[in-house]
Amino acid sequence: MSARQYTHFIDGRFDASADAHVERKAPATGEIVARFASGQIGDMDRAVAAARAAFDKGPWPSMSGMERAEILNKYADLVRANFDRLVRIEVEEVGKPIRFARGDISGVVGLIRYAASLALQMAGTTYTNLGAGKTAMIMREPVGVVGLITPWNFPALILSQKVPFALAAGCTVVVKPSEFTSGSALELAALATEAGVPAGVFNVVTGKGSVVGQHLTEHPGIDFISFTGSTQVGQTVIEASARNVVKTSMELGGKAANIVFADADLDAAVDGALMGVFFNNGECCVSGSRLFVETSIADEFIKRVAQRSAQLKVGNPFDEDTDIGAMIDEKHFNKVLEFVRSGVDEGATLLTGGAAAKSGSGHFVEATIFDHVAPSMTIFKEEIFGPVLSVTRFDTVDEVIELANSSIYGLSNYVWSKNIDTVLTVTKRLKSGWVQANTIIDGAPQLPLSGVKGSGFGYEMGQAGFEEFTQLKTLFIHTGPRQPVFAR
Ligand code: NAD
Repeated sequence: MSARQYTHFIDGRFDASADAHVERKAPATGEIVARFASGQIGDMDRAVAAARAAFDKGPWPSMSGMERAEILNKYADLVRANFDRLVRIEVEEVGKPIRFARGDISGVVGLIRYAASLALQMAGTTYTNLGAGKTAMIMREPVGVVGLITPWNFPALILSQKVPFALAAGCTVVVKPSEFTSGSALELAALATEAGVPAGVFNVVTGKGSVVGQHLTEHPGIDFISFTGSTQVGQTVIEASARNVVKTSMELGGKAANIVFADADLDAAVDGALMGVFFNNGECCVSGSRLFVETSIADEFIKRVAQRSAQLKVGNPFDEDTDIGAMIDEKHFNKVLEFVRSGVDEGATLLTGGAAAKSGSGHFVEATIFDHVAPSMTIFKEEIFGPVLSVTRFDTVDEVIELANSSIYGLSNYVWSKNIDTVLTVTKRLKSGWVQANTIIDGAPQLPLSGVKGSGFGYEMGQAGFEEFTQLKTLFIHTGPRQPVFAR
Protein backbone atom coordinates (compact mmCIF):
# COMPACT_ATOMS: atom_id res chain seq x y z
CA MET A 1 0.00 0.00 0.00
CA SER A 2 1.44 3.38 -0.97
CA ALA A 3 1.13 6.43 1.26
CA ARG A 4 -1.36 9.13 0.26
CA GLN A 5 0.42 12.34 -0.81
CA TYR A 6 -1.29 15.63 -0.06
CA THR A 7 -0.68 19.31 -0.66
CA HIS A 8 -2.63 22.26 0.76
CA PHE A 9 -6.11 22.86 -0.67
CA ILE A 10 -6.30 26.59 -1.46
CA ASP A 11 -8.64 28.57 -3.71
CA GLY A 12 -10.48 25.55 -5.06
CA ARG A 13 -7.56 23.25 -5.83
CA PHE A 14 -4.63 21.31 -4.42
CA ASP A 15 -1.25 23.06 -4.67
CA ALA A 16 0.94 21.58 -7.40
CA SER A 17 3.64 20.58 -4.92
CA ALA A 18 4.89 21.11 -1.39
CA ASP A 19 8.39 22.08 -0.25
CA ALA A 20 8.31 19.92 2.87
CA HIS A 21 6.10 17.19 4.26
CA VAL A 22 4.87 15.86 7.61
CA GLU A 23 4.79 12.06 7.54
CA ARG A 24 1.90 10.23 9.17
CA LYS A 25 2.60 6.77 10.50
CA ALA A 26 -0.48 4.63 11.21
CA PRO A 27 -0.58 4.34 15.01
CA ALA A 28 -1.68 0.70 14.70
CA THR A 29 1.18 -0.46 12.46
CA GLY A 30 3.90 2.19 12.30
CA GLU A 31 3.57 2.17 8.51
CA ILE A 32 3.65 5.56 6.70
CA VAL A 33 0.09 6.07 5.41
CA ALA A 34 0.12 9.73 4.42
CA ARG A 35 2.36 12.73 3.75
CA PHE A 36 0.91 16.19 4.39
CA ALA A 37 2.42 19.48 3.29
CA SER A 38 4.28 21.12 6.15
CA GLY A 39 2.72 24.57 5.86
CA GLN A 40 4.59 27.83 6.29
CA ILE A 41 3.42 31.37 7.05
CA GLY A 42 3.14 32.20 3.32
CA ASP A 43 0.82 29.23 2.73
CA MET A 44 -1.52 30.47 5.44
CA ASP A 45 -1.39 33.98 4.01
CA ARG A 46 -2.42 32.63 0.58
CA ALA A 47 -5.33 30.68 2.10
CA VAL A 48 -6.60 33.64 4.13
CA ALA A 49 -6.33 35.89 1.05
CA ALA A 50 -8.37 33.36 -0.99
CA ALA A 51 -11.03 33.10 1.73
CA ARG A 52 -11.10 36.89 2.15
CA ALA A 53 -11.58 37.45 -1.58
CA ALA A 54 -14.26 34.75 -1.77
CA PHE A 55 -16.14 36.42 1.07
CA ASP A 56 -15.70 40.06 0.01
CA LYS A 57 -16.15 39.61 -3.75
CA GLY A 58 -17.34 36.08 -4.35
CA PRO A 59 -20.83 34.80 -4.95
CA TRP A 60 -21.08 32.58 -1.84
CA PRO A 61 -22.32 35.01 0.86
CA SER A 62 -24.82 36.62 -1.51
CA MET A 63 -26.24 33.35 -2.92
CA SER A 64 -29.73 32.47 -1.76
CA GLY A 65 -30.04 30.04 1.14
CA MET A 66 -31.74 27.66 -1.29
CA GLU A 67 -28.71 27.66 -3.61
CA ARG A 68 -26.30 27.07 -0.72
CA ALA A 69 -28.53 24.29 0.63
CA GLU A 70 -28.58 22.55 -2.75
CA ILE A 71 -24.79 22.60 -2.97
CA LEU A 72 -24.43 21.37 0.62
CA ASN A 73 -26.83 18.49 -0.06
CA LYS A 74 -24.78 17.56 -3.11
CA TYR A 75 -21.68 17.67 -0.90
CA ALA A 76 -23.42 15.26 1.53
CA ASP A 77 -24.19 12.93 -1.42
CA LEU A 78 -20.50 12.95 -2.43
CA VAL A 79 -19.40 12.17 1.13
CA ARG A 80 -21.83 9.24 1.09
CA ALA A 81 -20.43 8.09 -2.27
CA ASN A 82 -16.87 8.21 -0.85
CA PHE A 83 -17.89 6.63 2.45
CA ASP A 84 -15.49 3.67 2.47
CA ARG A 85 -12.50 5.75 1.43
CA LEU A 86 -13.11 8.31 4.19
CA VAL A 87 -13.64 5.56 6.78
CA ARG A 88 -10.35 3.97 5.78
CA ILE A 89 -8.49 7.28 6.15
CA GLU A 90 -9.88 7.80 9.66
CA VAL A 91 -8.98 4.27 10.75
CA GLU A 92 -5.46 4.49 9.33
CA GLU A 93 -4.60 7.96 10.58
CA VAL A 94 -6.32 7.86 13.99
CA GLY A 95 -6.10 4.15 14.85
CA LYS A 96 -9.78 4.04 15.88
CA PRO A 97 -11.88 0.87 15.44
CA ILE A 98 -13.56 0.72 12.03
CA ARG A 99 -17.09 0.50 13.43
CA PHE A 100 -16.58 3.85 15.18
CA ALA A 101 -15.05 5.39 12.05
CA ARG A 102 -18.18 4.35 10.12
CA GLY A 103 -20.27 6.12 12.76
CA ASP A 104 -18.13 9.23 12.30
CA ILE A 105 -18.62 9.42 8.52
CA SER A 106 -22.37 8.75 8.81
CA GLY A 107 -22.37 11.58 11.34
CA VAL A 108 -20.62 13.84 8.83
CA VAL A 109 -23.39 13.23 6.26
CA GLY A 110 -26.08 14.02 8.86
CA LEU A 111 -24.33 17.21 9.97
CA ILE A 112 -24.04 18.49 6.38
CA ARG A 113 -27.72 17.76 5.65
CA TYR A 114 -28.86 19.45 8.84
CA ALA A 115 -26.65 22.50 8.13
CA ALA A 116 -28.16 22.65 4.61
CA SER A 117 -31.62 22.92 6.17
CA LEU A 118 -30.42 25.84 8.32
CA ALA A 119 -29.23 27.74 5.24
CA LEU A 120 -32.93 27.99 4.30
CA GLN A 121 -33.89 29.43 7.66
CA MET A 122 -31.29 32.13 8.21
CA ALA A 123 -33.47 35.01 9.38
CA GLY A 124 -33.55 37.99 11.68
CA THR A 125 -36.35 39.82 13.45
CA THR A 126 -38.47 42.86 12.61
CA TYR A 127 -40.03 45.24 15.14
CA THR A 128 -43.07 47.26 14.07
CA ASN A 129 -44.23 48.14 17.59
CA LEU A 130 -41.70 50.85 18.38
CA GLY A 131 -43.98 53.84 17.77
CA ALA A 132 -45.31 55.88 14.85
CA GLY A 133 -43.01 55.88 11.83
CA LYS A 134 -40.52 53.54 13.50
CA THR A 135 -39.49 50.17 12.16
CA ALA A 136 -36.42 48.14 13.13
CA MET A 137 -34.91 45.16 11.38
CA ILE A 138 -32.38 42.96 13.08
CA MET A 139 -30.65 41.36 10.14
CA ARG A 140 -28.64 38.15 10.44
CA GLU A 141 -25.47 38.14 8.35
CA PRO A 142 -22.52 35.74 7.94
CA VAL A 143 -19.71 36.56 10.35
CA GLY A 144 -17.12 36.57 7.54
CA VAL A 145 -13.86 34.63 7.12
CA VAL A 146 -13.57 31.89 9.73
CA GLY A 147 -10.38 30.21 10.93
CA LEU A 148 -11.11 26.67 12.09
CA ILE A 149 -8.62 24.62 14.10
CA THR A 150 -9.40 20.96 14.79
CA PRO A 151 -7.91 18.10 16.86
CA TRP A 152 -6.96 14.54 15.89
CA ASN A 153 -9.53 12.37 17.66
CA PHE A 154 -12.53 12.88 15.31
CA PRO A 155 -10.91 14.58 12.31
CA ALA A 156 -13.86 14.47 9.87
CA LEU A 157 -16.62 14.67 12.46
CA ILE A 158 -15.37 17.68 14.41
CA LEU A 159 -14.53 19.50 11.18
CA SER A 160 -18.15 18.85 10.16
CA GLN A 161 -19.51 20.22 13.43
CA LYS A 162 -18.06 23.49 12.14
CA VAL A 163 -17.56 23.79 8.36
CA PRO A 164 -21.07 22.94 7.01
CA PHE A 165 -22.62 25.35 9.53
CA ALA A 166 -20.17 28.11 8.53
CA LEU A 167 -20.86 27.46 4.84
CA ALA A 168 -24.63 27.39 5.38
CA ALA A 169 -24.38 30.86 6.93
CA GLY A 170 -22.43 32.17 3.90
CA CYS A 171 -19.00 32.30 5.55
CA THR A 172 -15.73 31.27 3.94
CA VAL A 173 -13.26 29.14 5.89
CA VAL A 174 -9.61 28.30 6.38
CA VAL A 175 -9.15 25.00 8.19
CA LYS A 176 -5.99 23.98 10.05
CA PRO A 177 -6.51 20.30 10.88
CA SER A 178 -4.33 18.34 13.29
CA GLU A 179 -0.94 17.57 11.78
CA PHE A 180 -1.49 13.89 12.70
CA THR A 181 -4.79 13.41 10.88
CA SER A 182 -5.20 15.90 8.04
CA GLY A 183 -6.31 13.48 5.30
CA SER A 184 -10.08 13.68 5.72
CA ALA A 185 -10.10 17.51 5.95
CA LEU A 186 -8.36 17.74 2.56
CA GLU A 187 -10.63 15.11 1.02
CA LEU A 188 -13.74 16.89 2.36
CA ALA A 189 -12.61 20.25 0.94
CA ALA A 190 -12.13 18.63 -2.48
CA LEU A 191 -15.57 16.96 -2.30
CA ALA A 192 -17.28 20.21 -1.28
CA THR A 193 -15.63 21.95 -4.22
CA GLU A 194 -16.74 19.15 -6.58
CA ALA A 195 -20.28 19.68 -5.25
CA GLY A 196 -20.19 23.33 -6.31
CA VAL A 197 -18.76 25.25 -3.34
CA PRO A 198 -16.91 28.08 -5.15
CA ALA A 199 -13.11 28.40 -5.15
CA GLY A 200 -11.74 30.12 -2.05
CA VAL A 201 -14.71 29.25 0.16
CA PHE A 202 -13.26 26.08 1.78
CA ASN A 203 -9.46 26.10 2.18
CA VAL A 204 -7.23 23.71 4.13
CA VAL A 205 -3.66 24.42 5.20
CA THR A 206 -1.81 21.56 6.88
CA GLY A 207 1.21 21.61 9.15
CA LYS A 208 2.25 22.42 12.67
CA GLY A 209 -0.04 24.18 15.13
CA SER A 210 2.82 26.31 16.42
CA VAL A 211 3.49 27.60 12.88
CA VAL A 212 0.39 27.72 10.66
CA GLY A 213 -2.15 27.36 13.50
CA GLN A 214 -0.60 30.22 15.44
CA HIS A 215 -0.38 32.39 12.31
CA LEU A 216 -4.07 31.77 11.56
CA THR A 217 -5.10 32.91 15.05
CA GLU A 218 -3.03 36.09 14.74
CA HIS A 219 -4.11 36.87 11.18
CA PRO A 220 -5.82 40.25 10.61
CA GLY A 221 -7.78 38.77 7.68
CA ILE A 222 -9.85 36.51 9.99
CA ASP A 223 -13.19 37.50 11.56
CA PHE A 224 -13.80 34.52 13.84
CA ILE A 225 -11.72 31.64 15.23
CA SER A 226 -13.48 28.39 16.05
CA PHE A 227 -11.10 26.14 17.98
CA THR A 228 -11.42 22.56 19.22
CA GLY A 229 -8.53 21.09 21.16
CA SER A 230 -6.83 21.13 24.53
CA THR A 231 -7.54 23.77 27.15
CA GLN A 232 -3.84 24.71 27.18
CA VAL A 233 -3.65 25.47 23.44
CA GLY A 234 -7.11 27.09 23.63
CA GLN A 235 -5.68 29.64 26.07
CA THR A 236 -2.90 30.60 23.63
CA VAL A 237 -5.47 30.92 20.84
CA ILE A 238 -7.59 33.30 22.96
CA GLU A 239 -4.49 35.42 23.71
CA ALA A 240 -3.45 35.55 20.04
CA SER A 241 -6.93 36.45 18.78
CA ALA A 242 -7.24 39.22 21.37
CA ARG A 243 -4.62 41.26 19.51
CA ASN A 244 -7.01 41.75 16.57
CA VAL A 245 -10.12 41.72 18.81
CA VAL A 246 -11.44 38.65 17.02
CA LYS A 247 -14.37 36.62 18.31
CA THR A 248 -13.51 33.04 19.36
CA SER A 249 -15.36 29.87 20.20
CA MET A 250 -13.58 27.27 22.34
CA GLU A 251 -14.41 23.56 22.52
CA LEU A 252 -11.81 22.30 24.98
CA GLY A 253 -11.03 19.38 27.28
CA GLY A 254 -13.32 17.40 29.58
CA LYS A 255 -13.44 15.03 32.54
CA ALA A 256 -17.06 13.92 32.70
CA ALA A 257 -18.76 12.26 35.63
CA ASN A 258 -20.79 9.16 34.81
CA ILE A 259 -23.13 8.79 37.80
CA VAL A 260 -24.94 5.50 38.47
CA PHE A 261 -27.73 5.48 41.05
CA ALA A 262 -28.90 2.23 42.66
CA ASP A 263 -32.31 2.47 40.92
CA ALA A 264 -30.83 2.56 37.38
CA ASP A 265 -31.28 -0.10 34.71
CA LEU A 266 -27.99 -1.69 35.72
CA ASP A 267 -27.48 -3.74 32.52
CA ALA A 268 -27.72 -0.54 30.48
CA ALA A 269 -25.51 1.32 32.95
CA VAL A 270 -22.77 -1.35 32.77
CA ASP A 271 -22.69 -0.97 28.99
CA GLY A 272 -22.80 2.81 29.50
CA ALA A 273 -19.77 2.63 31.78
CA LEU A 274 -17.82 0.77 29.07
CA MET A 275 -19.00 3.06 26.27
CA GLY A 276 -18.22 6.08 28.45
CA VAL A 277 -14.53 5.33 28.70
CA PHE A 278 -13.58 2.94 25.88
CA PHE A 279 -15.42 4.55 22.96
CA ASN A 280 -12.89 5.93 20.44
CA ASN A 281 -10.00 4.39 22.48
CA GLY A 282 -10.93 6.73 25.34
CA GLU A 283 -9.58 9.56 23.18
CA CYS A 284 -12.78 11.51 23.47
CA CYS A 285 -13.50 14.93 25.01
CA VAL A 286 -16.90 13.76 26.32
CA SER A 287 -15.59 10.49 27.82
CA GLY A 288 -17.31 9.45 31.03
CA SER A 289 -13.90 8.75 32.55
CA ARG A 290 -14.95 9.28 36.18
CA LEU A 291 -17.50 6.63 37.15
CA PHE A 292 -19.46 7.33 40.36
CA VAL A 293 -21.44 4.39 41.73
CA GLU A 294 -23.91 4.49 44.65
CA THR A 295 -22.36 2.48 47.50
CA SER A 296 -25.29 0.08 47.96
CA ILE A 297 -24.73 -1.45 44.48
CA ALA A 298 -21.06 -0.62 44.02
CA ASP A 299 -19.31 -3.95 44.68
CA GLU A 300 -21.47 -5.97 42.29
CA PHE A 301 -21.70 -3.23 39.65
CA ILE A 302 -17.96 -2.56 39.56
CA LYS A 303 -17.24 -6.30 39.39
CA ARG A 304 -19.45 -6.56 36.30
CA VAL A 305 -17.80 -3.57 34.62
CA ALA A 306 -14.32 -4.97 35.32
CA GLN A 307 -15.24 -8.45 34.03
CA ARG A 308 -16.67 -7.03 30.82
CA SER A 309 -13.65 -4.72 30.35
CA ALA A 310 -11.22 -7.62 30.65
CA GLN A 311 -12.99 -9.28 27.69
CA LEU A 312 -12.69 -6.31 25.34
CA LYS A 313 -10.60 -6.83 22.22
CA VAL A 314 -7.69 -4.42 21.86
CA GLY A 315 -5.79 -4.41 18.58
CA ASN A 316 -6.06 -4.05 14.80
CA PRO A 317 -8.60 -1.26 14.23
CA PHE A 318 -9.58 -2.75 10.87
CA ASP A 319 -10.93 -5.92 12.56
CA GLU A 320 -14.72 -5.72 12.75
CA ASP A 321 -14.77 -6.96 16.34
CA THR A 322 -12.03 -4.69 17.75
CA ASP A 323 -13.22 -2.58 20.67
CA ILE A 324 -10.12 -0.49 21.37
CA GLY A 325 -7.58 0.53 18.73
CA ALA A 326 -4.19 2.23 18.96
CA MET A 327 -3.23 5.40 20.83
CA ILE A 328 -2.59 8.32 18.48
CA ASP A 329 1.22 8.16 18.82
CA GLU A 330 4.03 6.91 21.02
CA LYS A 331 4.22 10.11 23.06
CA HIS A 332 0.54 9.95 23.95
CA PHE A 333 0.76 6.19 24.60
CA ASN A 334 3.57 6.84 27.11
CA LYS A 335 1.57 9.65 28.72
CA VAL A 336 -1.44 7.36 29.21
CA LEU A 337 0.78 4.69 30.80
CA GLU A 338 2.31 7.36 33.05
CA PHE A 339 -1.19 8.23 34.29
CA VAL A 340 -1.74 4.53 34.99
CA ARG A 341 1.48 4.42 37.04
CA SER A 342 0.38 7.50 38.98
CA GLY A 343 -2.90 5.73 39.84
CA VAL A 344 -0.96 2.79 41.31
CA ASP A 345 1.56 5.04 43.10
CA GLU A 346 -1.14 7.24 44.62
CA GLY A 347 -2.99 4.23 46.07
CA ALA A 348 -5.95 3.50 43.76
CA THR A 349 -6.89 -0.19 43.35
CA LEU A 350 -6.09 -1.50 39.86
CA LEU A 351 -8.90 -3.90 38.96
CA THR A 352 -8.04 -4.76 35.38
CA GLY A 353 -5.60 -3.75 32.62
CA GLY A 354 -2.89 -1.26 33.43
CA ALA A 355 -0.32 -2.18 30.79
CA ALA A 356 0.51 -1.89 27.13
CA ALA A 357 -1.53 -4.38 25.10
CA LYS A 358 0.52 -6.56 22.79
CA SER A 359 -0.72 -6.34 19.22
CA GLY A 360 1.70 -5.95 16.32
CA SER A 361 3.97 -2.92 16.34
CA GLY A 362 1.35 -0.32 17.32
CA HIS A 363 0.78 1.61 20.53
CA PHE A 364 -2.05 -0.13 22.35
CA VAL A 365 -3.18 0.19 25.96
CA GLU A 366 -5.29 -2.39 27.80
CA ALA A 367 -8.77 -1.50 29.01
CA THR A 368 -7.88 -0.23 32.49
CA ILE A 369 -10.04 0.25 35.58
CA PHE A 370 -9.11 1.72 38.94
CA ASP A 371 -11.40 1.42 41.96
CA HIS A 372 -11.33 3.50 45.16
CA VAL A 373 -10.12 6.60 43.36
CA ALA A 374 -9.95 9.63 45.65
CA PRO A 375 -10.56 13.22 44.47
CA SER A 376 -6.96 14.13 45.35
CA MET A 377 -5.51 11.62 42.87
CA THR A 378 -4.07 12.67 39.51
CA ILE A 379 -6.23 10.19 37.57
CA PHE A 380 -9.35 11.73 39.11
CA LYS A 381 -8.40 15.26 38.06
CA GLU A 382 -6.53 15.11 34.76
CA GLU A 383 -7.92 14.42 31.31
CA ILE A 384 -6.15 11.12 30.48
CA PHE A 385 -7.55 10.73 26.95
CA GLY A 386 -7.08 6.96 26.96
CA PRO A 387 -8.88 3.75 28.01
CA VAL A 388 -8.54 4.38 31.75
CA LEU A 389 -11.57 4.51 34.06
CA SER A 390 -11.52 5.78 37.62
CA VAL A 391 -14.27 4.59 39.96
CA THR A 392 -15.45 6.40 43.09
CA ARG A 393 -18.33 5.43 45.38
CA PHE A 394 -20.93 7.83 46.76
CA ASP A 395 -23.83 7.79 49.24
CA THR A 396 -25.82 10.98 48.69
CA VAL A 397 -26.83 13.32 45.87
CA ASP A 398 -25.05 16.24 47.56
CA GLU A 399 -21.83 14.25 47.80
CA VAL A 400 -21.81 13.14 44.15
CA ILE A 401 -22.70 16.61 42.86
CA GLU A 402 -19.80 18.11 44.77
CA LEU A 403 -17.42 15.44 43.45
CA ALA A 404 -18.67 15.79 39.87
CA ASN A 405 -18.44 19.60 39.92
CA SER A 406 -14.99 19.63 41.54
CA SER A 407 -13.39 19.30 38.07
CA ILE A 408 -11.82 22.30 36.36
CA TYR A 409 -13.71 21.10 33.26
CA GLY A 410 -17.43 21.33 32.50
CA LEU A 411 -18.14 19.76 29.12
CA SER A 412 -20.43 16.76 29.72
CA ASN A 413 -21.86 14.59 32.50
CA TYR A 414 -24.07 11.49 32.59
CA VAL A 415 -26.75 10.22 34.98
CA TRP A 416 -28.29 6.76 35.26
CA SER A 417 -31.53 6.49 37.25
CA LYS A 418 -35.11 5.44 36.53
CA ASN A 419 -36.35 8.23 38.79
CA ILE A 420 -37.14 11.35 36.75
CA ASP A 421 -36.94 13.42 39.93
CA THR A 422 -33.32 12.30 40.47
CA VAL A 423 -32.46 12.87 36.81
CA LEU A 424 -33.80 16.43 36.76
CA THR A 425 -32.47 17.43 40.18
CA VAL A 426 -29.00 16.19 39.39
CA THR A 427 -29.02 17.66 35.85
CA LYS A 428 -29.88 21.12 37.16
CA ARG A 429 -27.03 21.03 39.65
CA LEU A 430 -24.31 19.68 37.33
CA LYS A 431 -21.99 22.33 35.91
CA SER A 432 -21.59 21.30 32.27
CA GLY A 433 -22.92 22.25 28.86
CA TRP A 434 -24.21 18.71 28.22
CA VAL A 435 -25.97 16.18 30.44
CA GLN A 436 -27.29 12.83 29.22
CA ALA A 437 -29.53 10.54 31.24
CA ASN A 438 -29.75 6.76 30.74
CA THR A 439 -27.58 7.05 27.66
CA ILE A 440 -24.03 8.19 26.99
CA ILE A 441 -22.09 9.96 24.22
CA ASP A 442 -25.29 10.15 22.24
CA GLY A 443 -26.25 13.08 20.05
CA ALA A 444 -27.83 14.54 16.94
CA PRO A 445 -26.92 17.46 14.66
CA GLN A 446 -29.84 19.45 16.11
CA LEU A 447 -28.38 19.37 19.64
CA PRO A 448 -25.78 21.96 20.59
CA LEU A 449 -22.54 20.99 22.32
CA SER A 450 -20.84 23.51 24.57
CA GLY A 451 -18.58 23.65 27.55
CA VAL A 452 -18.43 25.75 30.69
CA LYS A 453 -15.45 26.45 33.00
CA GLY A 454 -12.17 25.07 31.56
CA SER A 455 -14.07 23.31 28.76
CA GLY A 456 -14.59 26.57 26.93
CA PHE A 457 -17.42 28.67 25.55
CA GLY A 458 -19.53 29.03 22.43
CA TYR A 459 -21.76 26.46 20.76
CA GLU A 460 -21.24 23.82 18.14
CA MET A 461 -24.11 22.19 16.17
CA GLY A 462 -27.81 22.93 16.52
CA GLN A 463 -29.38 26.31 15.81
CA ALA A 464 -27.04 27.86 18.40
CA GLY A 465 -23.98 26.39 16.65
CA PHE A 466 -25.18 27.82 13.33
CA GLU A 467 -25.72 31.25 14.87
CA GLU A 468 -22.07 31.32 16.03
CA PHE A 469 -21.22 31.80 12.34
CA THR A 470 -23.58 34.76 12.02
CA GLN A 471 -23.75 38.26 13.41
CA LEU A 472 -26.58 40.74 13.82
CA LYS A 473 -26.93 44.14 12.21
CA THR A 474 -29.68 46.40 13.47
CA LEU A 475 -31.37 48.78 11.02
CA PHE A 476 -33.64 51.43 12.58
CA ILE A 477 -35.80 53.18 9.95
CA HIS A 478 -37.94 56.25 10.39
CA THR A 479 -40.73 56.90 7.90
CA GLY A 480 -43.01 59.92 7.68
CA PRO A 481 -42.64 63.21 9.59
CA ARG A 482 -40.01 63.12 12.32
CA GLN A 483 -40.30 65.33 15.40
CA PRO A 484 -37.21 67.62 15.48
CA VAL A 485 -34.97 67.20 18.54
CA PHE A 486 -33.11 70.51 18.24
CA ALA A 487 -35.92 72.83 17.25
CA ARG A 488 -33.99 76.14 17.50
P1 NAD B 1 -4.26 20.26 20.76
O1 NAD B 1 -4.76 21.39 21.57
O2 NAD B 1 -2.89 19.78 20.99
O3 NAD B 1 -4.34 20.62 19.20
C1 NAD B 1 -5.55 21.04 18.60
C2 NAD B 1 -5.22 21.79 17.32
O4 NAD B 1 -4.56 23.00 17.67
C3 NAD B 1 -4.31 21.04 16.37
O5 NAD B 1 -4.72 21.26 15.05
C4 NAD B 1 -2.97 21.71 16.62
O6 NAD B 1 -2.09 21.63 15.52
C5 NAD B 1 -3.40 23.14 16.86
N1 NAD B 1 -2.42 23.97 17.59
C6 NAD B 1 -1.41 23.58 18.41
N2 NAD B 1 -0.74 24.66 18.86
C7 NAD B 1 -1.33 25.75 18.34
C8 NAD B 1 -1.11 27.15 18.46
N3 NAD B 1 -0.13 27.65 19.21
N4 NAD B 1 -1.93 27.99 17.79
C9 NAD B 1 -2.95 27.51 17.04
N5 NAD B 1 -3.20 26.20 16.89
C10 NAD B 1 -2.41 25.31 17.53
O7 NAD B 1 -5.34 19.08 20.94
P2 NAD B 1 -5.28 17.61 20.37
O8 NAD B 1 -4.21 16.87 21.11
O9 NAD B 1 -5.23 17.63 18.89
O10 NAD B 1 -6.74 17.07 20.80
C11 NAD B 1 -7.03 16.61 22.06
C12 NAD B 1 -7.69 17.69 22.91
O11 NAD B 1 -8.83 18.20 22.24
C13 NAD B 1 -8.22 17.14 24.23
O12 NAD B 1 -7.97 18.05 25.27
C14 NAD B 1 -9.74 17.04 23.98
O13 NAD B 1 -10.53 17.07 25.14
C15 NAD B 1 -9.96 18.22 23.12
N6 NAD B 1 -11.22 18.04 22.36
C16 NAD B 1 -12.30 18.80 22.70
C17 NAD B 1 -13.51 18.61 22.04
C18 NAD B 1 -14.74 19.43 22.37
O14 NAD B 1 -15.70 19.39 21.59
N7 NAD B 1 -14.77 20.16 23.47
C19 NAD B 1 -13.60 17.65 21.02
C20 NAD B 1 -12.47 16.89 20.72
C21 NAD B 1 -11.28 17.10 21.39
